[in-house]
Amino acid sequence: MNFPTLWLGAGVYAAEEASLSHKYTPPDSQGLCTMFVMRVCLGDVFTTQNKMQNLKRPPCKELCQTTCILHNEFFDSVVGEFQQREFVVYDGAKCYPEYVIEYKVIQ
Ligand SMILES: [Zn+2]
Repeated sequence: MNFPTLWLGAGVYAAEEASLSHKYTPPDSQGLCTMFVMRVCLGDVFTTQNKMQNLKRPPCKELCQTTCILHNEFFDSVVGEFQQREFVVYDGAKCYPEYVIEYKVIQ
């Protein structure tokens, strides 16, 4: 199974559409897929339509082009305005996995 590329770097990804999350959900040996229903604290959101694959944290509020070491105010999360919206936080403590859903895809 080929997974989509993570366009917004090394973070915890969430989606508002389960069909997007499903693309990142490999089935186990019995065909069972697993995903979480999560609450995510987005805080101050940086919104983009560009791929930013090198992100390890949200951009600084001065919008430096590279990983910023000059400023100390950063956005809290990044929202990718792609075909399906992606929400990314770079600190797992900003996510609360509320439910685990296990399902099988019926062909
Ligand atoms: Zn900066």
